[in-house]
Amino acid sequence: MPSAVSERTNLLGLERPALEAFVAGLGSKPFRARQLMNWIYKRGTSSFAQMTDLAKDFRAHLEAHAEVRVPEIASVQVSADGTRKWLLRADAAQAFEMVFIPEPDRGTLCISSQVGCALDCSFCATAQQGFNRNLSTAEIVGQVWLATRELEGAPELATAAADTDAGREQRRITNVVLMGMGEPLANFRNVVPALRILLDDFGFDLSRRRVTLSTSGLVPQIYKLAEETNVALAVSLHAPDDALRNELVPINRKHPIAELLEACWFYLDEQNGRSVTFEYVMLEGVNDSPVQAQSLARLLKGHPAKVNLIPFNPFPGTRYRRSSADAIRRFRDELLQRSVLATIRRTRGDDIDAACGQLAGRVIDRTTVRLGSKVIGVAVHP
Ligand code: SAH
Repeated sequence: MPSAVSERTNLLGLERPALEAFVAGLGSKPFRARQLMNWIYKRGTSSFAQMTDLAKDFRAHLEAHAEVRVPEIASVQVSADGTRKWLLRADAAQAFEMVFIPEPDRGTLCISSQVGCALDCSFCATAQQGFNRNLSTAEIVGQVWLATRELEGAPELATAAADTDAGREQRRITNVVLMGMGEPLANFRNVVPALRILLDDFGFDLSRRRVTLSTSGLVPQIYKLAEETNVALAVSLHAPDDALRNELVPINRKHPIAELLEACWFYLDEQNGRSVTFEYVMLEGVNDSPVQAQSLARLLKGHPAKVNLIPFNPFPGTRYRRSSADAIRRFRDELLQRSVLATIRRTRGDDIDAACGQLAGRVIDRTTVRLGSKVIGVAVHP
């Protein structure tokens, strides 16, 4: 069967030095890479023909050897609260999701790093899907590129946003969070260049405090990340002790809480960061008691930490229930009384399954993946 896969290089996946090398390979001066990035990222152009300040023969070379290819949109849904979710194609059968959350003071794009996830956290819908593959750097960066263009041309988003209590909400992407499908640190090789492109002045030019990577706690990769980048770090903690965390976030069996926290403080020191955000999903009768809040406060007190309490978002087949609003507030107050900063994450987009932990995409061709000795994916060939 002839391959439909393009032989051309996707420029979206190339960090500046790689793009300079590519451009040099086509016989042009490396500074042309900056011009190209300006067209691609600042002006949102994917067509070389429109890049009018580039020499004609250079453009012809680009046409022949390069492309700006973004993921294809399979569907879009808009929530009553203005949150917007896109289903993007990974191939003919698989898909992944990205979500835009407009707020008065910011516009957050939540992007995916993998098709599915191999980490098997018991309260997460993505985990139930199993794991298919890593997204490429171009597919990760392509989400931000695509969402920027989509938001520019989405008048109905402004209407939906205007209907919310908050009134006028941000339509531009001001923040990017790697909190969609997948474990970003399990796709280190593709995620790190994507982060660099997000931060590059000639790329998306985002400040490092406006890009957040969330991890379930792959300790060795947190140390490695400290060598590569300085984005904000969020960690899915979800439990104040190892026995419970082993159950909720199975990677904890390999990298227990004490090791994880040590890695977090190391990352902050290296990066001169302000604080680490600890995500904590509120599960009724599981991790939401005042005594558990007190244990959590003991772990974090005196450290540069913020706790973000996430009301559990249910999905079909889950055995968990969301903690009551009262229990969540009490938990927060226990933390605050012990001088641990804590906030409650407002649930957004749950009517279109776009809230935290609800992203399921379309993961059909699952690979068998092993974490330690435990099989955490199943081979399914429908
Ligand atoms: N794999 C990374 C990135 C996912 S971020 C990580 O674990 O950090 C998505 C956040 O939503 C994580 O903190 C995750 O634990 C949380 N989450 C997962 N399922 C959830 C659910 N059903 N309700 C609320 N939050 C959930």
